[in-house]
Amino acid sequence: MKPIHKKSVAGIYTLLTPESALPLVFDSPHSGTIYPADFDYACDFPTLEKSEDKYVDELFFAAPKLGAPLLCAEFPRSYIDVNRCEKDIDVDLLEDIWPEGIEATSRSHAGIGLIRRLVKPGVPLYSRRLKSSEVRHRIETYYRPYHAALEDLIETAHYRFGQVWHINCHSMPTHEAQSFRVNPLKAVDIVLGDRDGTTCDKHFIHETRAFLRGLGYSVAINDPYKGVELVRRYSNPATGRHSLQIEIARSVYLNEKTYEKSSGFKETRDNMEHLIRFCADYVQNQTSIPIAAD
Ligand SMILES: [Zn+2]
Repeated sequence: MKPIHKKSVAGIYTLLTPESALPLVFDSPHSGTIYPADFDYACDFPTLEKSEDKYVDELFFAAPKLGAPLLCAEFPRSYIDVNRCEKDIDVDLLEDIWPEGIEATSRSHAGIGLIRRLVKPGVPLYSRRLKSSEVRHRIETYYRPYHAALEDLIETAHYRFGQVWHINCHSMPTHEAQSFRVNPLKAVDIVLGDRDGTTCDKHFIHETRAFLRGLGYSVAINDPYKGVELVRRYSNPATGRHSLQIEIARSVYLNEKTYEKSSGFKETRDNMEHLIRFCADYVQNQTSIPIAAD
């Protein structure tokens, strides 16, 4: 087996990189469980915890041994969400004036921007407003290092191979996993997102869907989740930079009441290993990289 290098930036991210990596990068931005000491949330913890994409890092743990780096955030997305634009600032959360440009989206207006105001609809996350300096600290200490690590992985692979495939890994509450195009009566298991065909090659997303269907999953594309900042920011299919989001319904692998692993966890992890192997074969075929034994 290829040696795997581990880089851990305490509380920020863990990066596992195999020697002689393929142009294939996995990241799990929302599975972090280390709550920073200065978080100062006011909601109850079980509600806050449900915003985590729990165990997604473990589901994709096989990536490095199959030749693909795996980057995992260690902080929770409820502290600062790396899957938002850095300028998606919610002024209703701030105590003072934000000194720079703001590009607030509908997500900030809904209380789920770069830094959440609401832990779930109608429920405030804090009992106070935050200072701009606190938001700045979260951006500089957590958000930017995570993005810098991801960009470095993607650009290094692209420089070496001329193409790169990035798989951005998430999980979704099952009650939100409703694709009316696939089945209006039943939640789907997996949603693949490429922001309506703009972040990765069509062939790749369709082949991935076919592969996952072959494993027995119901799969939708861009419905209801298209992908947000992490698949948008570094992708450009015209220059060989492909980013694909994968959302797995939580009921597939955990108990959504207790947030503990369910009996489906092992099978899901095994199937994600099959998916990683499928992606590794795909990028090797696309880039004519000799297939190495592992
Ligand atoms: Zn997520």
